Order: sequence, then structure tokens, then C-alpha cells
Amino acid sequence: MLSSRIQKIKPSATLAINAKAIELIKQGKDILKFGTGEPDFDTPQNIKDAAKRAIDQGFTKYTAATGIPELKEAVIQKLKRDNHIEAKTENVLITNGGKQALFNLFMTLLNPGDEVLIPSPYWVSYSDIVAVCEGSSKFIDTRSNHFKLTAKMVEEAITPTSKILILNSPSNPTGMMIEKEELEKIAEIALKNNLYLISDEVYEYFCYDGKTHFSIGSLPELSELVFTVNAVSKTYAMTGWRVGYIVGPEIIIKKMGYLQSHSTSNPCSIAQKAALEALTGPQDSIQIMAREFLKRRNFVFEAMNQIPGFQLQKPEGAFYAFPDISGCFNGQMRNSFDFTEFLLEKAGVAVVPWGAFGEPGKNHIRFSYATSMQDIEEGIERIKSIL
Ligand code: GLU
Repeated sequence: MLSSRIQKIKPSATLAINAKAIELIKQGKDILKFGTGEPDFDTPQNIKDAAKRAIDQGFTKYTAATGIPELKEAVIQKLKRDNHIEAKTENVLITNGGKQALFNLFMTLLNPGDEVLIPSPYWVSYSDIVAVCEGSSKFIDTRSNHFKLTAKMVEEAITPTSKILILNSPSNPTGMMIEKEELEKIAEIALKNNLYLISDEVYEYFCYDGKTHFSIGSLPELSELVFTVNAVSKTYAMTGWRVGYIVGPEIIIKKMGYLQSHSTSNPCSIAQKAALEALTGPQDSIQIMAREFLKRRNFVFEAMNQIPGFQLQKPEGAFYAFPDISGCFNGQMRNSFDFTEFLLEKAGVAVVPWGAFGEPGKNHIRFSYATSMQDIEEGIERIKSIL
């Protein structure tokens, strides 16, 4: 009955854990949520006001399927200002969140069996979107370098069927970054092998300890090979608004726009106006969040390393801790899934088990610290108390 395509995918584990936690809370259970990665901050007021204005002014009809021109222009200016990427309107597609950007791109580029190189541990949806688009994921194990991708790893993994490499720095789930020198070497490999690069930059502003984010799309020689994907979701605490964008070679972006015109049509008109305000209005909320995440990262790093059986290397960015918890395994608790179940049941603490992120993360759990400091302190206390 079902297509072979759909049988290859599972529900998003990061969203599933959230749904499960919400269900338990509804049943009256006392659950602390560290599963889904979304800022606990509210969407800034100026952005909400822009959305209200859009409704009041009747901006409630179809827009161009590929997004409103003002928002594309705001993306172009943002990329120029913060990422040193040069783009024209024809290079930009506004999407329903970052996921649709990836989905459109894989649908547009992949033929059955084309290989997508995915540094692992990786964000759960990459491989499932590749599968539904009939590509084949090849994972690059980054454990040997503390989860930091190197050009050498890419060189060793590449095959004649490799078509795309995904870069995600800072990384979800590990919080680690790819060094600029490595990105420059990866650029050379991409040019030599005609390899498309997807740079998923949704955590770009959340980098710590003086680290700065580098956009590989700023290298002009790569203009025909790089797709920069981003969204307002994390940067402006707008996960529910569903606005993302992708910037890349005109011909491919155009075909992606055709696909979008037959699937979802435009992203929500009101959300697009909100995203426009996010990109062009005051930017101070980003620094406020980044400072708070840094505080929490420092606390989590210290506190988790004091939990017997936990080992956490310091995340360089994003808002995830990805501790190795294999020191807690025993006769009954044999893996990260058992551990996650145990935490939820005995401590009311929801985290994501390794399965969502690939084999190299198998001794790990992902703990999102985009939650209040009070919850984090209590969550860690609860974990300690049941171990
Ligand atoms: N990207 C976030 C996460 O990994 C949001 C949920 C999702 O889309 O997977 O938790």
C-alpha cells in the first residue's frame, strides 16, 4: 500500500520527544523539557507587532510562491552584512522553515542513488529528507577529531557518486564548529570534485569563547556550488513562524521555486512580514540570547562533568550539550535509549537519545540548554539524584 519512499522514513525524533513531554505534562506529570531545540525566549515585540500590522492591513492573501521581494532583499542585505555573501534576488528562495529549503534542494538535485555526505553525529532530519528524495546518505564519522569535521575526513569519504556535502557549524547536536582553514580546504575539494555544499547556518550567532562563524558561501569561486540555508527560527526565537531561506545558484533556485509553487505555495504571508521585521529591525535580541546561552553553556559544562558517568566536551556554539553517558551503562541500562527512558520515567527529564543523530553518537544524549536556568539547575539536580 505504501510507497517505498515513505517506508524509508521515521518521524522526527526531536519533535517526537517534545510531543511526548507535552503529553505527559497534560497528564499532570512534572516534566522538564530539554528535548527539542528551541529558544525559551519570546519572539521580540517589534516582530509580533509587524505581524499584527500585516493582518490589520489585510496582507493575508497569496504572495509570490518564492517569497515577497522585500524579504528577499532583506536576506540579501543580511548576507552581505554578516556573511560576506553576494547574492541577487534570483539566488534567493523564501521557504517554510529551513526544512523546506533542504527538502526542495534534495528534490531538485538528487537522482536515485546519488550520495549525500553527512558529517556524523548529525541533525536527525538530514538523512530522512535525503531518503525521501531517493538519495543515499553516507555518514562521515567525526569522533576522531572531537566531532569537528576536517577536510581530510571529507577527502577520505568522497566517491564518484557523492553529489552533496552538508556542513553544519555550529553543529546540532554536538555544538562543535568546523574551523575556517578546514572549510577553505573543503572548498578546494568541492571545486576539484564538483561537489555541491549545503551550509546550514541556523546557529551562526551562537558561538562562544571568541569563536566566529565563517560562511563558506563567501568564497566567490564557489558561487555555483554552495547553498546557504538559514531561518529566523533560532536567531529570533521564531520556531513556530516557519520562515527559512536558501541562497544559491540561480538555475537551481529557480527550479526549487517551481517545486514550491506546486507544494506549499508561499510561506505564510504574515510570517513573511514578521521575518522582514526580524531581519531589518533592531538586532539586540540576538546578543541578549547569545549572552544567556553562554552563561547556561558554562553552567552545564561544569555541572554535567560532575555527574558520575557523564563526560561532556565543551560545546563551541549552538545550544546543545552532547554528553557521553556510557559511564552510566550497566546490566539494565545498556544504551542511550534505555538511559533516556530512565530519565523521563524516574526524573521527569526529557532529552533526546543518540538514535536521532547517527551511530557515532551512540554513547550520548542531547540536552538542549535553550531552557531557563532554573529548569537547567533543577534538571541536573534531578539527574544526579537518580543516578
Ligand atoms: N532543530 C530543532 C531540534 O533539533 C527543532 C526540531 C527539529 O526540527 O528537529 O531539536
